[in-house]
Amino acid sequence: MIDAGELIACLSERPVSMEARSAAFFRGIDIAHAMAGLTELQSYLLRVKYADQRTWIKDLDRRTWMAIVDMWVDNKWRYPKERKGQEFARNMGRLALCESIWPHTCLRCGGWGNDIHQGKITPCPSCNGSGRSIPNSSIRSHYMGMEESLWEAHWADYYKQIQKMLEDEESYGLGKMVRRLFAA
Ligand SMILES: [Zn+2]
Repeated sequence: MIDAGELIACLSERPVSMEARSAAFFRGIDIAHAMAGLTELQSYLLRVKYADQRTWIKDLDRRTWMAIVDMWVDNKWRYPKERKGQEFARNMGRLALCESIWPHTCLRCGGWGNDIHQGKITPCPSCNGSGRSIPNSSIRSHYMGMEESLWEAHWADYYKQIQKMLEDEESYGLGKMVRRLFAA
């Protein structure tokens, strides 16, 4: 069974061994061609997530934000008044992207495992130095700069819908790419 994510990983900018390339049966150019039918959001997400093509992160961030603004308008979501001009929706998108692309990586230390406290390096309190953690509402609300109770009461549900949107884009994108690859 072909793993769509592994195929996209063949587009990696890092050197890939010949075995890894031949194991996939397809050349990078075939995969890139199959990805041409994807939306920009799908394409950027898959390239960053599976091929580690970090040059697309800025475009991915912008496209995700635009999709979230559409959701915000379509669903007539409220906006926190006190946060006007603070990129609230955009930061929700960035948080959801981090969780999607680097799952289980501690959001507080970014996987470093340490924290700098009063000039000293100490183990990160969120992951106890492991660099890995499962995000929960305490971590998410900390990232968004608000009390956990406020996050849970007003924003956690919007956030879930944003995560769902990204999951859907990812699976539509993977499916579309594989269909195009085999139809070629
Ligand atoms: Zn940490």
